[in-house]
Order: sequence, then structure tokens, then C-alpha cells
Amino acid sequence: MTGLASGRPAGDAADATGDGLADGVAETAAADAAWMRAALGLAERGAGAGEVPVGALVVRDGQVLGEGWNRPIGAHDPSAHAEIVALRAACERERNYRLPGATLYATMEPCPMCAGAIVHARIARVVFAARDEKWGAAGSVFDILGAGRLNHRPEVLAGVLAADSAELLRAFFRARR
Ligand code: ZN
Repeated sequence: MTGLASGRPAGDAADATGDGLADGVAETAAADAAWMRAALGLAERGAGAGEVPVGALVVRDGQVLGEGWNRPIGAHDPSAHAEIVALRAACERERNYRLPGATLYATMEPCPMCAGAIVHARIARVVFAARDEKWGAAGSVFDILGAGRLNHRPEVLAGVLAADSAELLRAFFRARR
């Protein structure tokens, strides 16, 4: 812990994100929250088009490589999940089917299809918000992202802005009833 280096108690001002962590870890947490905020904005665009509100972003070295929101209905495409749309955009931009060193942010836990694509693309890190108790493939129902039998395993961080994402999904389904 370096929280005392500034003379302030840990958990006070040195912990700007309120996550009990300081310095470099807090910076990462703040960046994760900021990118997730952007992904939630993308999810809202999906909701506006009548799609289940899920958004995703691929980021590397502080730069957005690709973004997407859920659009299987509008695109007549069962694979048009936010993560796949974002991965396609990022790979197209990079002219590479692999994205080593990149982080994928998603407002909901990736499904098996998206988790498979994430592993194929060699995404280094996956950060997601709400868990998906029906389709989640980062441990909730399946654990494709943590499968030791696959030759690539991304680092996974769950629960960033989970309440905001869950509320967006709840509001969407409430409005449809
Ligand atoms: Zn998916």
C-alpha cells in the first residue's frame, strides 16, 4: 500500500474512486469506469433502436479501436451482439484478426459466442458490468473466458458499473411490457 505516502490515510482522498485502492490501481479503476460509461452510452443507442441495451468498446493504449451496440434485430443477424460488432470494427481498423494487448469493455457479461470470438481475437483483458445469469460465459453459466483448455485466457474484471447496466436493462424491459 502506498496510500500513506501522501500523508493521507488510505481510503481517504488518495482513493478517488472509493474502491479501497490507491495510486496506479485507482487510475486503472477510474479509466475502467470511464470506458464503461462510454459503453453504457452505446447500449442506450441500442435501446433507442428497440434492441436489448448492451454496448461494447475495444480499447488499446487509451484509444478506441472499435465500438458497437447490440443490433441483431435491425441487422437481421443473430451474431450482431455488441461485442462482435465492436470486435469487427476494431479488426477492420487494425487490418488484423487478432487484437493483442487490447481491452474489451462490455456492459453485460459476454455470451458463449462473444466469449469465443474474444479468445480467437486474443483480447488481453475483458471488463464487463452486469452478469448474465442466462447466457454469461465468464463464469455465470459457462466459463469460456476462464477455460484452461483454451490456448488463450484473457484477464477478466466483472462488476464495473454493474448497477447502472442492470438498471438500463430493467428500464428497457419494463418499458416493453
Ligand atoms: Zn454475445
